[in-house]
Amino acid sequence: MAYFESKRVAGRHFLQIPGPSTVPDRILRAIDNPTMDHRGPDFGLLGKQVLAKIQTIFKTAQPVVIFPASGTGAWEAALCNTLSPGDRVLMCETGWFAHLWQEMAGRLGIVTDLVKTDWRRGADVEQIAERLAADRAHAIKAVAVVHNETSTGATSRIAEVRRAIDDAKHPALLLVDTISGLASVDYRHDEWGVDVTVSGSQKGLMLPPGLSFNAVSQKALKASEGAKLPRSFWDWKPMIAANATGYFPYTPATNLLYGLDTACDMLLEEGLDNVFARHERHAEATRRAVRHWGMEVQCQDPRHYSPVLTCVRLPEGHSANALRATILERFNMSLGNGLGQLNDRAFRIGHLGDFGDLQLMGTLSGVEMGLRAAGVPHSPGGAQAALDYLSGNA
Ligand SMILES: *Cc1c(COP(=O)(O)O)cnc(C)c1O
Repeated sequence: MAYFESKRVAGRHFLQIPGPSTVPDRILRAIDNPTMDHRGPDFGLLGKQVLAKIQTIFKTAQPVVIFPASGTGAWEAALCNTLSPGDRVLMCETGWFAHLWQEMAGRLGIVTDLVKTDWRRGADVEQIAERLAADRAHAIKAVAVVHNETSTGATSRIAEVRRAIDDAKHPALLLVDTISGLASVDYRHDEWGVDVTVSGSQKGLMLPPGLSFNAVSQKALKASEGAKLPRSFWDWKPMIAANATGYFPYTPATNLLYGLDTACDMLLEEGLDNVFARHERHAEATRRAVRHWGMEVQCQDPRHYSPVLTCVRLPEGHSANALRATILERFNMSLGNGLGQLNDRAFRIGHLGDFGDLQLMGTLSGVEMGLRAAGVPHSPGGAQAALDYLSGNA
């Protein structure tokens, strides 16, 4: 049973929002251990171990800073450690999360140049290339991209963004939000030359909310020496200094670090490539179900289809929020709401984190029964189409 339920519904709750994702029992058991002295001798061993393991998940040999905060905190840390008031940042408006990051930058005193999209694909690399080529004075100090746009289900191609920056011979930093992408879709901090990677605990890492991350390149560290935005809690410098011995400058989220240690073990035991293939397969099965129902996937560019979640557009005149309410009430399943301009127009199916074939079939069956219960016109059999795909692609 859930810790807090206003009305008892039998059976396990399906938490199919695209984060927080379901926390596996093995991680819950790890978090359940007694809190330890974060200045004591054992903590340094744990700290060093977990800091090394998280580097393998980001595919980096550079420092990964861990904050006791939600992903939004790590967004702020990425900006305030590298930039100064009045600096220009080129941001790609791929959806609601990119929009929120841009708003935050504005509040911090950063000038943002927007590369817009129609929210139905990932970042527009050609437009980024054009903007950088036109910036001969190198006024743009950073390019900021959301890797997996959780509001639309579009994954941007970060290696191509990197190439555009290099081809323009532009010195801008590359800042990437992979809060919902990390550990669900391939990500390579070092190989892709990302300067700051932002992530969080409650999505692909299968943890509760409360940890967030900055993976930091040498170039970003150098930029931080001259960056003039005020920072204290988010300052990388004391973090990286204390992390050298496995400790933190202020109290870390001790029990979440136990969970992170176990989450990394689980991901590495399965093998990251197997994890990514699992999500790709579930995403394909989900899209087949959606198309069979006669509905549209929000992302229109197959190169940008997200393995993490699928955003589904409802037929004109039907309420996605009413559908979600019906599904919650009848089948005890939470689906993601449409964000920003997609509010009530679309809903989101999360297939990230600790997720297998049977969870997917339960999820899609719940959606299909919900479509019927809510009177949304659709062609029955989408769940069957997904089942056929899964059976033929073990
Ligand atoms: C979830 C999410 C965020 C926000 O993270 P919080 O943990 O809610 O602060 C930002 N960006 C993306 C892409 C996300 O998926």
